[in-house]
Amino acid sequence: MVSVWDALVGQDSVVATLRAAADAATLVLAPTSLLMDGAAEADVVPDPTGPGPGTGSAAPSPAAGASAGPSRSGMTHSWLFTGPPGVGREQAARAFAASLTCERQPPGCGECVGCHTVLTDTATDLRTVTPEGFSLGVKDIRALVRDAASAPTAGRWRILLLTDADRLTEAAANALLKALEEPAERAVFLLCAPSVEDVLPTIRSRCRTVALRLPAAADVRAMLIREGVDERSADVAARASQGHLDLARRLAGDEAARAHREAVLRIPARLGRVGACLAAAADLVEAANADAEAANSARDEVETEALKTALGVGATAVGGRSRSAKASKAGAKGRTMVVRGAAGALKELERNQKSRGRRTVLDTLDRALVDLAGLYRDVLAEQLGATVESIHPDHAAEAARLAAAATPEQTLRRLEAVLATRTALADNPGLVPLLAVESLTLALRDA
Ligand SMILES: [Zn+2]
Repeated sequence: MVSVWDALVGQDSVVATLRAAADAATLVLAPTSLLMDGAAEADVVPDPTGPGPGTGSAAPSPAAGASAGPSRSGMTHSWLFTGPPGVGREQAARAFAASLTCERQPPGCGECVGCHTVLTDTATDLRTVTPEGFSLGVKDIRALVRDAASAPTAGRWRILLLTDADRLTEAAANALLKALEEPAERAVFLLCAPSVEDVLPTIRSRCRTVALRLPAAADVRAMLIREGVDERSADVAARASQGHLDLARRLAGDEAARAHREAVLRIPARLGRVGACLAAAADLVEAANADAEAANSARDEVETEALKTALGVGATAVGGRSRSAKASKAGAKGRTMVVRGAAGALKELERNQKSRGRRTVLDTLDRALVDLAGLYRDVLAEQLGATVESIHPDHAAEAARLAAAATPEQTLRRLEAVLATRTALADNPGLVPLLAVESLTLALRDA
């Protein structure tokens, strides 16, 4: 049977937690419940099982004095979805949002209008906020908080989905905190971040944490086969993706993604003279730039045109509406941006697009470095005779060749150099990617 939970690959305990919460949410709003009783329990924040990692327990604790049967305490206003990139934090949050909006029983059918509009991000009671660049500003959060205060229009809950809560600026985090401290009765906040440590303690202490784990290669493989990929390609893509679902799909279905990975895994063989090292670095960065350009240029253009049209059509109307709570009900246009002034808005869009471009380049480079680290990890396993599944099974011959040509100590130094470059690029916004990668290819040669 198809349901919204199918999108969560290898996350059985998370699915159990969210299913229980969706059932509890139905109880909270059940017409048979006494109004006072329902309101009192809906206001229980933070949840009684306690915040923090590992609270993804499926069993709702029975509330004191509650009658037998499923408890309403499985539902709470604020949730934090954590997990490494690519495991599907946002998909999990969205599946939960769909189950809260679902019109059928059990909630989360994936087929009704409620589910469908949430999954396609067109539901009137769902507001999704995604930062375009490196940070999520106070302006976006204020709009979100205003939305949270208004009653749901079509469904039962007003759902606020924050895809990158780790990118909140301090001012934005404080604005959000106020809303989490005193949530409106029907508001549900779904925050996503790589780990609980990436979110301010004041915020995470008010959320129930749902920790997604890295799915096993077998789970990813099964997902790809379900989606129509042949067994051999599914096997390679599942292992090479190292638990990153979107990457697994791209490797299985996108020729350019496969070519990019091949080029990355050929790098160790190219590192002879200094000139060759520099050329390999330049190729890697150029490929990342091309990827970013391909991913963003069409979108940049569409956004700029859309904004110009919006400003031309009625700058006063847009500016006036943005401050009222009614703006939140004004549909997709009102939801995607708050416009203050024409010239400023265009400048800001350009800034956001530049920030997004750099972020895409860094994301692509990081993916390449993860592939490279995986190869050296296979080499090390070969050298130490470890019986573990290889990350790049289709490059076993290359791993064997590199293993024979180096000592385990050299391989370890190379692995460390790759990981150090990842950290350096992630931690230093000012670092020029080409210089970092050049320094890496030279270090790999000299290890
Ligand atoms: Zn449904």
